[in-house]
Amino acid sequence: MAKQEDIFKNVISHAKEYGFIFPSSEIYDGLSAVYDYAQNGAELKKNIREYWWKAMVQMHENIVGIDAAILMHPTTWKASGHVDAFNDPLIDNKDSKKRFRADVLIEDYCEKLQQKAQKEIEKARERFGDAFDEAQFVATNGRVVDYLSKKKTILERMAKSLDSGDLEDVKALIEELEIADPDTGSKNWTEVRQFNLMFGTKLGAAAENAMDLYLRPETAQGIFVNFLNVQKTGRMKIPFGIAQTGKAFRNEIVARQFIFRMREFEQMEMQFFVKPGEEMKWYEYWKETRLKWHQSLGLGAENYRFHDHEKLAHYANAAADIEFNFPFGFKELEGIHSRTDFDLKAHEQYSGKKLQYFDTEENKNYVPYVVETSVGLDRMFLAVFSKSLQEETLEDGSTRTVLRLPSVLAPTKAAVLPLVKKDGLPELAREIVEELKWDFNVSYDEKDAVGRRYRRQDALGTPFCITVDHQTLEDQTVTLRHRDTMVQDRVKIADLRGIINAEVSMRNWLLRTK
Ligand code: ATP
Repeated sequence: MAKQEDIFKNVISHAKEYGFIFPSSEIYDGLSAVYDYAQNGAELKKNIREYWWKAMVQMHENIVGIDAAILMHPTTWKASGHVDAFNDPLIDNKDSKKRFRADVLIEDYCEKLQQKAQKEIEKARERFGDAFDEAQFVATNGRVVDYLSKKKTILERMAKSLDSGDLEDVKALIEELEIADPDTGSKNWTEVRQFNLMFGTKLGAAAENAMDLYLRPETAQGIFVNFLNVQKTGRMKIPFGIAQTGKAFRNEIVARQFIFRMREFEQMEMQFFVKPGEEMKWYEYWKETRLKWHQSLGLGAENYRFHDHEKLAHYANAAADIEFNFPFGFKELEGIHSRTDFDLKAHEQYSGKKLQYFDTEENKNYVPYVVETSVGLDRMFLAVFSKSLQEETLEDGSTRTVLRLPSVLAPTKAAVLPLVKKDGLPELAREIVEELKWDFNVSYDEKDAVGRRYRRQDALGTPFCITVDHQTLEDQTVTLRHRDTMVQDRVKIADLRGIINAEVSMRNWLLRTK
């Protein structure tokens, strides 16, 4: 089995074993691509959401946050284009009976071409050392040029066929490239069909006058329909942003990647309203700003890359993904889209209401352009969790499992451990918990030998362990153990709050985005 697969399996089992993520309704054998966040997962997820909210809303004078309802008037989805165009092309393998997204099969094929080119580049880098000129090599090396131009041709052809609805050509492409079911190797494919991803539901009790609704497939539309309400009541001046976090629902065709692709998930989105013509400047600004936010978490700059879209959604004039190096390779973590005035104009048309901004400098009304940043909270969770989970070999040859979560996101910031369950140590430890819990999420643990308790906290990602021993009774000092280095310091109880705060405060982490 490939090493990456092992890592991913490990991530999933660790998430379950340590109370981060459970399959939904597991006693009934679960529900495909639906998951529940457990006691530690809920904390981690909340901390990620807050880290985003702080950076995007509270640190920007011109961005405000809202919390729109999941259920919206059904015409919303007609106007947004989701009723007609929120489709994925699906294809079934006749032998394995497995369903795939046709575009993803082709994109995965292209990713392999990219990897082959990358291998050539790395080989050359080793060969030429400091003298290596990557740009020149990519432009002139026969093999690299072939791989990359083949990739480009394939993606352009796919984009064209999907745009024009030529699904036969998408199937033809899969056949020409001899793409096989990755699990079984079978190339026995059905036709490609379009599938709408929205979940329908009904409003009202009596069947005859119930209204057909959709569960929102993105949070963005809740922002667009409230654009004027927020602008007027908040007296917002362009450029300004409206942000929100919340659940979205998509009846995904393929759902085999844990919380990477769920049917019920959470988005953190911000729509930035700008003067028409200035959208590209803001698009570049938000690409860079969002990348810095991701990198502030210290998971390694090499694990992020931009992917500029060849195929643009029906509403966009430019779009890029921030991709992350997940255990199954680089995949989309966040989308940054220049959505033009598509959404607001469409809502004007369908509602008959004006959704315009009066620009006092220009003395005229216009429909603003929009740049969107949209990141999946669950995908962020998976990115952070999977990169943080590490197996370490220690000096004595033993191994330890440590979840090196960025401490600002860690579910529990400190665990307080009495060395033994007697002599007044538990009482003193509880006093420390009582004192610290006003500022931090802290836990108390007295079960098992202290070494095992340390390991348990390492596996939960707790940055600090505070051990209370007999010396504490005499001089009010404790042992402070650091998760990452396992270094132990003797510190005063009175200093704990300041030490923990310096390590976990959002302020210190967000300063890195500057
Ligand atoms: P993909 O191409 O992976 O289906 P998308 O391009 O449709 O994603 P967007 O519509 O741009 O995704 O949504 C914005 C963000 O929402 C994505 O970057 C991703 O982080 C998150 N997201 C989208 N679909 C899902 C899902 N089914 N499960 C979890 N997160 C999702």
